[in-house]
Amino acid sequence: MECNISEPITYQNLLQVGRSHLEKMNILDAALDSRYLLEYVTGQNNGWLFLHGSESAEQKEIAAYTDLIKKRARHIPLQHLTGVQEFMGLSFYVNEHVLVPRQDTECLVEMVLPITENKKILDMCTGSGCIAISLAVLGKAKECTAVDLSDAALEVAKKNARINRADVKYVQSDLFEKIDDTYDIIVSNPPYIPQDVIEGLMEEVREHEPRMALDGGKDGLDFYRSIIVEGVKHLNVGGWLFFEIGCEQAKDVMDLMRMSGYYEVNCQKDYAGNDRVVYGHR
Ligand code: GLN
Repeated sequence: MECNISEPITYQNLLQVGRSHLEKMNILDAALDSRYLLEYVTGQNNGWLFLHGSESAEQKEIAAYTDLIKKRARHIPLQHLTGVQEFMGLSFYVNEHVLVPRQDTECLVEMVLPITENKKILDMCTGSGCIAISLAVLGKAKECTAVDLSDAALEVAKKNARINRADVKYVQSDLFEKIDDTYDIIVSNPPYIPQDVIEGLMEEVREHEPRMALDGGKDGLDFYRSIIVEGVKHLNVGGWLFFEIGCEQAKDVMDLMRMSGYYEVNCQKDYAGNDRVVYGHR
């Protein structure tokens, strides 16, 4: 990236150089990412950058921006560079130990939110904690518990609970192994990518997001099988199980739930029109 210009360099120059470097390196959303990174480095918003575009950037801003653009050009996800992702209007800290919260997952949270009142909720495979924390902050649950196998992910989730002042109890456990309690609602966005699909994912995801947050086994359904079967033992009578699913998994996951005796099993599409949430109750 050519940014070693000794002349004064403006914010506008930085943005142009950053953008064209990311474009050259085939980064999707080069325009957006170059701008987000400049906002991050300067601590200013887009409006400020627009108004002050012809002013010279400080040396340390130039150095920091150049460094981040180079990292982004190596396909490091934007959120790993800025350390944040917005989800349900809340701010989540993220790093390489957790899946970056996806907008698709908001669909799951929006479905569960209206029925949280006075409920005991379990979020299985919590990762960054985005689901449990959103439900705890925006809903009316009696109690929220979140489970993950990864200690590193749980550290991130606990930090996010502090950032968002959420009251969530965390348990390190391989699925239900260390869970004795029963719940009114179990919610989960488990790893669900079939193993042979992982290699075809974009580099940002394949190389930089945790494999254990993606890998759903040979057919992508391993976690659904376990959670559906174990979930029956950990749901109160009438309790609901909600899953985020990959858009081609609705039929398989609904069949698995019906076979395990869940009632009123159904599927909800996301805003893009893809099957996204499968749910049912016991
Ligand atoms: N529950 C977290 C999320 O929805 C993590 C999901 C995962 O790691 N598969 O982002």
